Amino acid sequence: MVVSIDLSYMPERLRYIIHKSIDLKYPPDHNEAIIILQDESNAQKIKSRLEEILKENTIQDFVVTENTEKQNEITLLKKGDIEQLGIYLCTHCGVAFGSEIQRTVHQRIHYFG
Ligand SMILES: [Zn+2]
Repeated sequence: MVVSIDLSYMPERLRYIIHKSIDLKYPPDHNEAIIILQDESNAQKIKSRLEEILKENTIQDFVVTENTEKQNEITLLKKGDIEQLGIYLCTHCGVAFGSEIQRTVHQRIHYFG
């Protein structure tokens, strides 16, 4: 399985921090906007690691989100840009949705299991 991390919304400086911190098996030559993790089966683990990296580097204006349509695609988004992009984030787990209704439906799982 493949997990991809989309850093295209991040400035170069922050991309560099992510590239440096994420311990890639096959590090890319440049600070590419998309990191592809081959043979990675655990998107949740990668997500947690990215959240740690943001914390460790006090990058507070970006959040780690998962694409609900494409599995195993993680995107780092700037908090202020999220609504402009028409993305609604679950306030509990950070999963991204294309509409407020979808998010509301999803958020129920956190309350009712
Ligand atoms: Zn959620």
